[in-house]
Amino acid sequence: MTREAELRRLLAEVFRWTYLKNLTTTMGGNASVRLDEETILITPSGMPKHMIKPANIVKMKLDGTVQGPGKPSSEWRMHVEIYKTRDDVRAVLHVHSPHVIALYEAGYKLDIDIVELKAYVGPTIPEVGYLTPGSQELAEAVARALRPRNVNAVILRGHGIVTVGSNIFEALNRAEVIDQAAYITILRNMLTGEK
Ligand SMILES: [Zn+2]
Repeated sequence: MTREAELRRLLAEVFRWTYLKNLTTTMGGNASVRLDEETILITPSGMPKHMIKPANIVKMKLDGTVQGPGKPSSEWRMHVEIYKTRDDVRAVLHVHSPHVIALYEAGYKLDIDIVELKAYVGPTIPEVGYLTPGSQELAEAVARALRPRNVNAVILRGHGIVTVGSNIFEALNRAEVIDQAAYITILRNMLTGEK
């Protein structure tokens, strides 16, 4: 199996898991991996994520040119801007984590001292205010927030999260850890009545 075929298989599989783990909805979210310095593989637009096959993954250049069949995710600009900003990033995952959205919209924040969060995600998780999904404005704001190399995730207010990694599993784990930390914080606040 070629490296591209293997990456297509992994991307389709991991993206299906994001749906099965309730990190997002059937049509929501998107993911990509870097194929080489100028090329990425990204999930397609408008397809139920549990049905995506390796052949449906779209290949595109960082200048926005699509290579071969398929239409890339409507958030392709965000993925491209991140890869252009961070040459160390090999995978990008965007999901609509309900726990994170609820936590932030209720006026709370993630507690960075939750052990897994600090260990797997890093010392800080910046926020980006609500911007239109799919817009160049959102793409540039997220890439700017991810510029420091110790930042591996961004909260998109009212929308979800973006995680990056040296491979798709690292990006997936970071999304899971963030979603779980948000869930823990919500439960803790409910149990203690803490503000
Ligand atoms: Zn989204």
